Amino acid sequence: MQAIIWWIRRDLRIGDNPALYGAIQAALANGRALIPLFIEDPKLWHATATPRQQFLHAGLQALNQQLQLLGSRLVVCRGDALAILKQLVEEYSVHAIYAEEDYSPYAQQRDSRIRNELPLHLVTGLVVRHPLTILKSDGTPYTVFTPFSKAWKAVPIKRIPLPAPDSLAPSPADISCVDLAAVQGNSNFPAGETEANKRLENFLHGPILSYAEGRNRMDLDGTSSLSPYLRFGMLSAVQAYHQAQNVLNQTFDTTERSGIETWINELIWREFYLSILYHFPNVLKEAFQPKYRNIPWRTSQADLHAWQQGCTGYPIVDASMRQLLHSGWMHNRGRMITASFLVKDLLINWQAGEDWFMGHLLDGDPASNNGGWQWTAGTGTDAAPYFRIFNPILQSKKFDPLGDFIRRWIPELKNVPVRYIHEPWLMNPQEQAAANCTIGKDYPSPIVEHGAARERALQAYRA
Ligand SMILES: Cc1cc2nc3c(=O)[nH]c(=O)nc-3n(C[C@H](O)[C@H](O)[C@H](O)COP(=O)(O)OP(=O)(O)OC[C@H]3O[C@@H](n4cnc5c(N)ncnc54)[C@H](O)[C@@H]3O)c2cc1C
Repeated sequence: MQAIIWWIRRDLRIGDNPALYGAIQAALANGRALIPLFIEDPKLWHATATPRQQFLHAGLQALNQQLQLLGSRLVVCRGDALAILKQLVEEYSVHAIYAEEDYSPYAQQRDSRIRNELPLHLVTGLVVRHPLTILKSDGTPYTVFTPFSKAWKAVPIKRIPLPAPDSLAPSPADISCVDLAAVQGNSNFPAGETEANKRLENFLHGPILSYAEGRNRMDLDGTSSLSPYLRFGMLSAVQAYHQAQNVLNQTFDTTERSGIETWINELIWREFYLSILYHFPNVLKEAFQPKYRNIPWRTSQADLHAWQQGCTGYPIVDASMRQLLHSGWMHNRGRMITASFLVKDLLINWQAGEDWFMGHLLDGDPASNNGGWQWTAGTGTDAAPYFRIFNPILQSKKFDPLGDFIRRWIPELKNVPVRYIHEPWLMNPQEQAAANCTIGKDYPSPIVEHGAARERALQAYRA
């Protein structure tokens, strides 16, 4: 039997999937079988945090169910990608392998190695616009977001989402397959394309219309929470963009238009950071800006541990860090506040934070995570100036005004009145007793004083 391989990597969907589409066309043209293949590469697997491993496995199981309804099934192999592909190409006379192009340095190296030996066709699907199509007039990449986004928007997007197939050629019956480990699903983020589409629909019918304001409120569900689905391609960026654009075309209300346009801008931030990683892979190892490669960081295991576990004594920082630990996700405002706190208030190297986030985020993505950390640390492309230091108390008052988000994640503070919820250390002993929360015992005292820490950071950065 002769076959075509659809090599699934981070495109766990059948809707709007150009790699799958290419594979189907090739299989139809030559009357070949189609093998939907996932390779669990131990090198990548061991570098993947447990929450993401589980989300990925649950996503593969959901994909397998979809494939079975179409008359096919998922084939899972474990081992080195080149070795496995070589064997399959030989055994099943594979004519072509279709895969979605990925831009991480590891993926780029792996794919170029495979392309030298096998008929691998890489297709654009992770992004709306390939990083090589958004360049300055002199052919160099953009390193500042605004001109990148202008160039991104300047050319009409011609590609429309591809329909999901309604049937698939079966894969060879004798092909061997390893079992996926049984996983404990994440109740906050059920994996799969169906869930992703449901979330997108719900978001487009409500929160997107007030997203320009709502996206910053940590106590409200004002964002799409689609990042894990975009991360693993359970939703395509082209589809998300098109559906948002359709909603935009239907409204003349300025607030609603601003909400939708702001959300589309976030999709472009995602592509900006993917483009940065593609053109400057060294960002994963060092600060983008050479002048910030020698900041005299502090080493304090105790402070780092307090930050990781959500025990800094600053409620908005701690609630966000506990949200990450317990749900595998953190609100964007929380990511900025906690990142700023680690880098500026504690003067701990942003790379320690980058690692911790990669170890716990379901949406952990080298490009966006690195971009977010370097932005906050002021060391990256388009970064916030180093002297912009978030005040965790003001941020808390502004973006969680009644403290509802804090109370959801820090039960010790549930009886603390609104006037103290952002700075509970200001309660006197009677007030602490009334709130059933003794500072320093039930909930920590602040591990640093923000004003002094701010000065320390400014001095270190200036030096
Ligand atoms: C320190 C730090 C680390 C981050 N790490 C990651 C990460 O590992 N993975 C990740 O996907 N995002 C990361 N972000 C970006 C952002 O926080 C998340 O994408 C967002 O919170 C996801 O929630 P949402 O899906 O509700 O986003 P929405 O507000 O609904 O936005 C829609 C989509 O746009 C993209 N997006 C939104 N904001 C950004 C941004 N600032 N940069 C890049 N893409 C964006 C995401 O794919 C997101 O799902 C990080 C930000 C910071 C400050």
